[in-house]
Amino acid sequence: MPRSFVAEARKRVGPKKARIGPVIDRLAVEHADAKIALSFTSPLELLVSVMLSAQTTDVNVNRVTATLFEKYRTPEDYLAVPQEELERDIYATGFFRQKARALRGTMSMLITEFDGEVPERFDDLLRLPGVARKTANVVSAERGNPQGIVVDTHVRRLSQRLGFTKQEDPVKIERDLVRLVPRRDWARFPHLLIWHGRRVCVARRPHCESCVLVDLCPSARIDVMPG
Ligand code: SF4
Repeated sequence: MPRSFVAEARKRVGPKKARIGPVIDRLAVEHADAKIALSFTSPLELLVSVMLSAQTTDVNVNRVTATLFEKYRTPEDYLAVPQEELERDIYATGFFRQKARALRGTMSMLITEFDGEVPERFDDLLRLPGVARKTANVVSAERGNPQGIVVDTHVRRLSQRLGFTKQEDPVKIERDLVRLVPRRDWARFPHLLIWHGRRVCVARRPHCESCVLVDLCPSARIDVMPG
């Protein structure tokens, strides 16, 4: 968008601090079913699912974990088989060698340092091999203790379109979002953006004509603007 249009669009929608509340409220109504798409029944299964979800879809992970979690129920189970067997069992999620190595390293640390339990503290999660900030954020949020805001490709795109950040780097985007989004909404905010990003504000050509945020969004297509 040329500069004058950007300024005009920002003026039209008002400051982001005034928009964030209505944006969350409207998305919560629109996507009342928005939640994590991974299937799990325990903190250990949650951690494994999120680790496996790197570079693949949640649907794909769920397909693999449906049988994986029958066979591997405790951290010890992941170490009781040869690495190659674990690699075969998670093969369909891609990057299976790296992921198997990370899983085994993590299970080993869970056993030696955390009594076989997934730690609650964010800093402890970050110490686990192969667990980066995004994984730790997802795990903490799903356990009801969000420490930050998960930034994936949808959260990045929508935050930029909605004028909540100008950054490209996920860490800097997260920094902007935690300043803006009320803490009570840190866990659900990314789910709302992800579902809106999948259903309405798609990457190529957003469906602004059917978007509930059209009057709050500086990137709304001009041809669908009200009035
Ligand atoms: S108005 Fe358009 S660009 Fe803005 S959030 Fe909605 S779909 Fe996305």
